[in-house]
Amino acid sequence: MKWHEMRSDEVMDSINTDGDSGLTSKEVQKRTQKFGLNELKEADRPSAIIIFLSQFKDFMVLVLLAATLISGLLGEYIDAIAIIAIVVVNGVLGFFQERKAERSLEALKELSAPQVNVLRNGQWEKILSKELVPGDIVKFSSGDRIGADMRLLDTKSLEVEESALTGESLPVQKSTQPIAGEEVGLGDLTNMVFMGTLITRGSGIGVVIGTGMNTAMGQIADLLQNAETMETPLQRRLEQLGKILIVVALALTVLVVGIGVIQGHDLYNMFLAGVSLAVAAIPEGLPAIVTVALSLGVQRMIKQKSIVRKLPAVETLGCASVICSDKTGTMTQNKMTVTHIWSGDKVWNVSGTGYHPHGEFLYDDQQVDVNNTRTLQQILTFGSLCNSASIIESEGQYRLDGDPTDGALVVSAMKAGIKRETLQKNFEVVDEFPFDSTRKMMSVVVKDKSGNRFVVTKGAPDVLLGVSSNILWNERQEVLNSKYEGKVKHAIESLASQALRTIAVAFKPLKSTDKINSSFEAEKDLVFIGLQGMIDPPRPEVKQAVKECRDAGIKTVMITGDHVITAKAIAKQLNILPHNGKVMEGKELSNLSVDELETIVDDVYVFARVSPEHKLKIVKALQNRGHIVAMTGDGVNDAPAIKAADIGISMGITGTDVAKEASSLVLVDDNFATIKSAIKEGRNIYENIRKFIRYLLASNVGEILVMLFAMILALPLPLVPIQILWVNLVTDGLPAMALGLDQPEGDLMRRKPRHPKEGVFARGLGWKVISRGFLIGIVTLAAFMIVYYRNPDDLAYAQTIAFATLVMAQLIHVFDCRSEKSIFERNPFGNLYLIGAVISSILLMMVVIYYPPLQPIFHTLPILARDWLLILGMSAIPTFLLAGSLLTRKSA
Ligand code: ADP
Ligand code: MG
Repeated sequence: MKWHEMRSDEVMDSINTDGDSGLTSKEVQKRTQKFGLNELKEADRPSAIIIFLSQFKDFMVLVLLAATLISGLLGEYIDAIAIIAIVVVNGVLGFFQERKAERSLEALKELSAPQVNVLRNGQWEKILSKELVPGDIVKFSSGDRIGADMRLLDTKSLEVEESALTGESLPVQKSTQPIAGEEVGLGDLTNMVFMGTLITRGSGIGVVIGTGMNTAMGQIADLLQNAETMETPLQRRLEQLGKILIVVALALTVLVVGIGVIQGHDLYNMFLAGVSLAVAAIPEGLPAIVTVALSLGVQRMIKQKSIVRKLPAVETLGCASVICSDKTGTMTQNKMTVTHIWSGDKVWNVSGTGYHPHGEFLYDDQQVDVNNTRTLQQILTFGSLCNSASIIESEGQYRLDGDPTDGALVVSAMKAGIKRETLQKNFEVVDEFPFDSTRKMMSVVVKDKSGNRFVVTKGAPDVLLGVSSNILWNERQEVLNSKYEGKVKHAIESLASQALRTIAVAFKPLKSTDKINSSFEAEKDLVFIGLQGMIDPPRPEVKQAVKECRDAGIKTVMITGDHVITAKAIAKQLNILPHNGKVMEGKELSNLSVDELETIVDDVYVFARVSPEHKLKIVKALQNRGHIVAMTGDGVNDAPAIKAADIGISMGITGTDVAKEASSLVLVDDNFATIKSAIKEGRNIYENIRKFIRYLLASNVGEILVMLFAMILALPLPLVPIQILWVNLVTDGLPAMALGLDQPEGDLMRRKPRHPKEGVFARGLGWKVISRGFLIGIVTLAAFMIVYYRNPDDLAYAQTIAFATLVMAQLIHVFDCRSEKSIFERNPFGNLYLIGAVISSILLMMVVIYYPPLQPIFHTLPILARDWLLILGMSAIPTFLLAGSLLTRKSA
């Protein structure tokens, strides 16, 4: 018999699992060994050797190697070996950079891997989906992605979207009924769910019958190796820039060689110098360093509790101009506690904090006995009955399993001695319509011991008012006319203005002939009973984060399904709502077109009573206004807005798989303040990339120009090829990496967001590169000429001086690259990596100059002490000349 033909008890028997407690750890271990991890096999990745070899496939490197070979054949062994050594070291560095980039991307995938709720050793726990084994019992609900193939054991209005497997985009209704017949098409297996499909509604429990490649998905796994494009806009732009730079560098090199030959230089020497120059001047390592900088930044962001799912988001983050954030759970703590209960114009206060189920009920400051207060008892009972959360006690601590709003209602009932377990014994839940943010209600159909059925509904009070026709008023049922409606509304507003989240409770008895097939049939003609008001305190750090965002030119918009007045009260506490700021309700939003919304959206700071569908409209309107929008969300219905936003953000704790998959950033702690940190990091990463681009290119410009000018002036070569290569490897490479790890400048979060279309050389970077590079070239040449004319016979000494001046000029200039404004803005010892890189570069240079065995290889001679004065003086000029002129300009 196949799985779908069996009854659920038969399934459990044949897969050998206990339905009440699941598998034991020992059994799980055995099965993991037998079946392996629940993973699809991935396409093979390139091996280390291939990555290493690919470092040398660069055209100019190949030319250099060929040139080296020629010089080797011509008997220049030392030169040849030294050049090859440098090329290999360069390749090894590139290899490690690339490996590092790849590894950290791998690690990211792991971090955002889906989790599942599984029953093991008698307890529900969360594990990674890849740890599932056949026989595991798994619980899932709307928004989850199914982790393995399962036979269903229990379903509640369960609907699954299986398009990944069947191509059918309409959700399929699922049940637990056995299906007859051996051969049934995948689309008709309504008592099973499959790996990779999505729960769009309801909830269910299933037992795993297939994992890994043994699933329906596994059979078509080859088709699914869809690699996501991870290239960021900047990387793409740099690639284009790289191509231009190659052409420019080559052209200049040819020019240098050409002029050199015309001026009477030896062709062979000029060729080797030209190729070395081209290798040095072409920033072929730039894309790799950018990737490393991005992925190191991503790792820093993980430490600050945000996971980047799509690398381009790192850049876009720095451009964000509006953050649209959920209120509940993101700006607030999502630790709800019922403090007020209202019914029939009476208000009871409830004491106690958190999920600790002990507290008192007070009326007019007098303690009341709930057992003697029928209304109170009803509100609490129904609130706990129409519920999907539970409070778990262990060692005196109380923990919530489920939705905090639900949890608060369970706890308030427990404070009156009403336990969910006892209720579940007395009332059988025969049907359930789970909460969703569009209906803003949840309902259950229950049957009591004597077989009477009734509907219990809880949800947003204004919505419940609309579907109630009667009201319990001081234990008497009355028609819900406008008089009572007015009183209820007044009560709602009074609770909401105290920043309380309000939930109303209602019910209706059913006749035995009544049939309830949909939430719509359940949620009408209800009897309204009363309200529970719960606090949900703001997260303490959010107020400061909102302020920092405002200083950074980023507007914060609160979006919530909660009541307008509650939303407004919390927005005021957090300083989100300015005096002239508008609050808009979902109703109003529905009536506006995107174009109409666009004209006013800049004035709106709070959107209340919205449905997830509204979020898309908000994103579009803001984008039409030219904003770069970050949008948070957690539910299935939030996914379209998350996708449409420039930066889609999902919640690590409460977020559904659907929302996470749609997002480019996941907040591990669901916290608004984390968005701010991520934006700050995003800005910093971008600025750091600019810093090393600036440094590398200015250095390259300097290297080319010193050679070019020397040729034009009919001078000998100021640098020999191996020196040029050395500078490229040591002086350019190490400090550039260190710049990638630089701390943010003090005013980073006081600048306006960067324009997304901004080019690499925007904000004066191009000028800085050319002017500093030009000066570096000039001073190197000047130092060379001074020493060369002093003693024209000692060319090698003059070349050593030029070499040292070039290195020192770059190492001083690197400190200037740390600031957009001026070198004097920053403490030079702030970046210890940079200090380390500079010191090691200097030491390595000293070794090359003063260590006798290396001198013939690098064509160096020991520099006299007095000439260091010349070198240092010259090399300080490029940085301080322009820094000084900038200062005078500022004071003028
Ligand atoms: P948000 O998450 O932005 O606060 P929701 O869409 O979750 O908004 O909730 C909207 C309203 O629905 C709430 O103000 C509350 O009245 C009601 N509500 C929230 N959670 C539940 C729930 N689990 N069951 C019933 N009603 C709920
Ligand atoms: Mg919610």
